[in-house]
Amino acid sequence: MGLVNSSLRSLVVASDAVTRLLILLAWPVNSFYAGSLLDAARNWDPDGVCWICCEGGTDLLHTGCACRGSAGLAHARCLEQAAVHDVNRWTTCPTCKQQWTGEMEVALARARYERVRHRPADDEERLFVQQNLAVALFESAGDPDGATAMLEEVLAVCRRVLGSENPLTLDALTNLALVYSEVGNYDAALPLSEEVVATTRRTRGADCEEAAHAIGSLAAVLNNVGEYARARPLWEEALQLRLRLLGPSHLDTLNSQHGVGQCLVGLGEIDAGLSLLEATSTAARRVFGPGHESVRHFDEGLETARNLSELSDRDRDLVIARARLDS
Ligand SMILES: [Zn+2]
Ligand SMILES: [Zn+2]
Repeated sequence: MGLVNSSLRSLVVASDAVTRLLILLAWPVNSFYAGSLLDAARNWDPDGVCWICCEGGTDLLHTGCACRGSAGLAHARCLEQAAVHDVNRWTTCPTCKQQWTGEMEVALARARYERVRHRPADDEERLFVQQNLAVALFESAGDPDGATAMLEEVLAVCRRVLGSENPLTLDALTNLALVYSEVGNYDAALPLSEEVVATTRRTRGADCEEAAHAIGSLAAVLNNVGEYARARPLWEEALQLRLRLLGPSHLDTLNSQHGVGQCLVGLGEIDAGLSLLEATSTAARRVFGPGHESVRHFDEGLETARNLSELSDRDRDLVIARARLDS
């Protein structure tokens, strides 16, 4: 991340604690967390069976939802068949209502794209599915370049064919902004994310999941550039929307709660921020189980915040001021 690297160069001799913190200060962002395919492979259970067909095999994958034990193992091909009958199965577990993540998310996103990729590039379902694949590539396959190229292509077609206010266009803008932000391209990320929030508020109001997604994403970009004061009311708005629309245990709600906590820590409200981050980690561990990728993501954010809390006030102010300057 540009922010972290440039801070490191000038502050490297200032304080060991500051230096350690700057390395840690790359907050993981909103709904984007890097899933680890290696971990999924390491966790493979030779005695496990698919909850759909009850058979095993080396192609068995963890579903990455909140289901545990054999309820959290399936073949991608079995879920693909299920998705033919119920479109929700492409992304969401029927049992725990959480989304597939990790390898399963990527496998299903690829399978779904294969079914529509022969269609014209401006086919709306193809654009939707292609965008899902791009998000999966970024979140769970560690492929930001592939995701960026695909999202840029989707956005260009969406703008041309569907116009700038279409929900698919706005999704593409949001997702591209998050990817740009995660790879440190803040100058490109911020105007895209601001455009989505303004357009969504104007055309859809501020009382829907789309608004929560747009607002939470802009807040995440602002956290990444160290603009915590601007981020705070947006985080709180996104969190309240998601608490009401999705409930307290949904991953998106937990992501917003984590974002508020990071933002408070960034503003120097350490105790309040830490307790929110701790509450998020505890809730995620209860909902998803200790080995889940999201739990690790939340725990890493909490660890970063704890490191920040151990600094002297002077060092902490220095780090936060420096992060703002660099943004
Ligand atoms: Zn199966
Ligand atoms: Zn589940």
